[in-house]
Amino acid sequence: MNNRAILETTLKRATEKCQDHGEKLTPKRSLILRTMIEAGSPLSAYDIINLMNSSHHALMPATSVYRILSFLESVDLVHKLSSENKYVACEHISCHHQHESPQFLICQKCNKVKEINISHSVIDEIKQHVKDSDYKLIDSVLEISCICKVCQMETNNT
Ligand SMILES: [Zn+2]
Ligand SMILES: [Zn+2]
Ligand SMILES: [Zn+2]
Repeated sequence: MNNRAILETTLKRATEKCQDHGEKLTPKRSLILRTMIEAGSPLSAYDIINLMNSSHHALMPATSVYRILSFLESVDLVHKLSSENKYVACEHISCHHQHESPQFLICQKCNKVKEINISHSVIDEIKQHVKDSDYKLIDSVLEISCICKVCQMETNNT
C-alpha cells in the first residue's frame, strides 16, 4: 500500500472508531486528524490553527480547533503530550487490538515521537509507588526523553 492508501484506510478506521463512541468523524474533525497524520510529528494547537488557516481549507477559528482536538483525544485518535503541550495522531488507529494507556518515546533532537505500549503491571507499579508516597496521580502517561535512530546515526557521523 502506498502512503495515500494507508492514510485513507486509517481515516476509514477512525470513522468507525467514532461510530463506536456514538460520534461522527465530521469533515472538520477528519481534516485535522489527516493534517496531524501527515505531519508525522507533534504539533501544538497553535501549529494546527496556523496550518488550517494557511492552507486552501476553510478558515477554522481557534475555538473550533481546540474543541476538535479535545474530541479526538477523548476517542483516542489523538494523544496529548503534556510535557510539550503538543498533540500527536495515535499510531494504532488502524489496529484492532484494545488501546492500552499510551506511552511515548520523544526524540530530543528532531522531536519525533514513537507511541509504545508498556505492560499494565509496570504502570500499576508506578501507581502503587505514587500511592505509597501519599501523592495523588494526575497523569500516568510516560513521556521518555530519547534520541531516535536517525539522530543517533547523525551524531555518529559528525
Ligand atoms: Zn494511541
Ligand atoms: Zn497497534
Ligand atoms: Zn531524532
